[in-house]
Amino acid sequence: MEVVKCWKCELPSEITIQASGFFCSSCFVEYFRQKYRKIIGASKLIRDRDLVVFAFDGSASGCAMLNVISTFQQHFAKANSENMNYKRKNRYITKALHMTDSCNERVKTALESSGIEYVVFSPSEEMKEKYEKQCFKIERFGDETENEFNKKSLQMELLVDKAKEMNAQFLMLSSHVESLAAKTLSVVSLGLGEEIQATAGLCHTYNGLRILKPFREMTKKEIDFYVNATCGEGILPEENKEEEDQSSIKSIQSLAAKFLSDLNSQGKDSNPSAIVRLSNKLKMKS
Ligand SMILES: [Zn+2]
Repeated sequence: MEVVKCWKCELPSEITIQASGFFCSSCFVEYFRQKYRKIIGASKLIRDRDLVVFAFDGSASGCAMLNVISTFQQHFAKANSENMNYKRKNRYITKALHMTDSCNERVKTALESSGIEYVVFSPSEEMKEKYEKQCFKIERFGDETENEFNKKSLQMELLVDKAKEMNAQFLMLSSHVESLAAKTLSVVSLGLGEEIQATAGLCHTYNGLRILKPFREMTKKEIDFYVNATCGEGILPEENKEEEDQSSIKSIQSLAAKFLSDLNSQGKDSNPSAIVRLSNKLKMKS
């Protein structure tokens, strides 16, 4: 079988990205980083000296984002030290925030080795109770779908307040195409259609803080490839064991995730990216 060459160099390609072409490992890593940089740059949202707090959850996409942020940070620091006159374009600061109940060694290693300033935040039970009372909840059937939604809602509430306490202008999430598409379908199913844009758009406001999702155009395939190519062992999360067991599907969120992974493997004209892109085209009637 003939191996297709990388579009950027002469090496054999290792990954194919729809519409973007064939890449060898190192050209893909560069392509992925530039894609992130362009999305942030083109949005023109972040200004000089802004503080962006990245909510690192220890997932594969979290590790990918941590690596991308740390690469650009090191690059800028080096360029600055070599050339005093060098005006770097993005003078914003990024810090990582990890919310946890107990400290995980793997997550700690990932944060330490990134070189990014970080905060580990363990909210107390009292704090969680207090937030649970004030955050937006759905309480109709008391089923798994609502529990899942309410759990995410509480997490978001806690993260946003912590980021505000750190004086952040943005809270950045590492949600990717598939996770955003699943969220989009879930909010529609829950009767929260007006949340579509906030869910899948690049930026939305939550409790007065802007939430950024620069990986909204990255697929799981791209993220997994990037993570394997760049992150050392001991940092990577254990393979997400695909729960094939139908009985594990208890909520709309897990059903949507299953539907999307099936769509990814079989869908030709329709895929999760189309769902995320659609959210941009929808406008609420005023
Ligand atoms: Zn190449």
